[in-house]
Amino acid sequence: MGETAVRTNLLGLTPAELEVFVVSLGEKPFRARQLLTWIYKRWVGDFEQMTDLGKEFRRRLAAVAEIRTPEIASEHTSGDGTRKWLLKAGEYSGRAQAIEAVFIPEVGRGTLCISSQVGCALDCSFCSTGAQGFNRNLETWEIVGQVWLASRILGVGPLGERAITNVVLMGMGEPLANYKNVLPALQLFMADHGFDISRRRVTLSTSGLVPQLYRLAQDTNVALAVSLHAPTDALRDTLVPINRRHPIQELLAACWHYLEAQNGRSITFEYVLLDGVNDQPEHARQLVALLKGRDAKVNLIPFNPFPGSDYKRSPAAVIAWFRDYLNGHDVTATVRRTRGDDIDAACGQLAGRVHDRTTVRLGSKVIQLAVEA
Ligand code: SAH
Ligand code: SF4
Repeated sequence: MGETAVRTNLLGLTPAELEVFVVSLGEKPFRARQLLTWIYKRWVGDFEQMTDLGKEFRRRLAAVAEIRTPEIASEHTSGDGTRKWLLKAGEYSGRAQAIEAVFIPEVGRGTLCISSQVGCALDCSFCSTGAQGFNRNLETWEIVGQVWLASRILGVGPLGERAITNVVLMGMGEPLANYKNVLPALQLFMADHGFDISRRRVTLSTSGLVPQLYRLAQDTNVALAVSLHAPTDALRDTLVPINRRHPIQELLAACWHYLEAQNGRSITFEYVLLDGVNDQPEHARQLVALLKGRDAKVNLIPFNPFPGSDYKRSPAAVIAWFRDYLNGHDVTATVRRTRGDDIDAACGQLAGRVHDRTTVRLGSKVIQLAVEA
């Protein structure tokens, strides 16, 4: 009785924290490494199966600890192999909340796109997460739990290769607005005894919280994607409101500082193409002027429309022209392929879209989840 209430969730503890935890149970520090291997290399969530730990230690762990992920509310697989999990994120004002994680398989790699907050406060005008408003920050275990859960479900290929080779924080939320909980998650993604994913394969996408970018440069060295979306302050102010506080030149200075501090290769600038808004030749010219000669790549994102949004996706010919113009002027640009369209899995517009109601059982309660089926 009462034990579950005080159990420590080991998922999300950094290796150093886990060591402190096992020592507090009277065990040797190296037991933490064994635990880490079971948790992050084999995705085992049941202490009883951790056979190289003593019987007594396993029993103790079962009593005081747990390995808990967010619960799956529903799962969808797209015709192109993209998989999406809708995960429960508690309740808010009596309404069930959900976040999403999406797996995008490609030849030679598999990317998991994860969420960092329930909703987002930054209110970019073209983003469905922004339109939903802000509910709360995800805890570290909820962020790490997305990768752990998907790793366990997807498993390994015939040669023992892992399904998930890359993790991108491009789902719901602004990761740098949840710095405290995101940083340990990044550390666990990259730790040798954690998920052991190379720093170049862990990407944090931000709309441009400048002070936190400087902090990030001190604390970690993940790959960076920055949501630019406009080449002038006048236009960016209207699309990405945080620009009014941290305008483009200030943001770019923080980006170049990050590259220098982290010895990084380049920064990816995301640019969602909105028909007639930021996709004109003058915008392409201005973008070249900003980024030419820098270690920068531009990732052009065809806009994903959602109910209630007035923007339209730029025509395919305009997208191709924009890409070619940048490439022709020494700014490397690619167009993001839209994946999982049939299950609404596009990164950056996860959950939050309300035009269907899914019934979900939470304990003994049946609730209507306001999310897309
Ligand atoms: N908050 C972070 C990360 C999550 S959004 C950020 O803004 O970078 C991930 C990416 O999806 C961002 O580049 C965002 O601008 C983009 N995005 C948001 N809404 C979109 C939409 N409707 N269509 C296409 N891309 C969108
Ligand atoms: Fe938040 Fe990113 Fe959406 Fe802007 S684009 S509202 S920062 S999730």
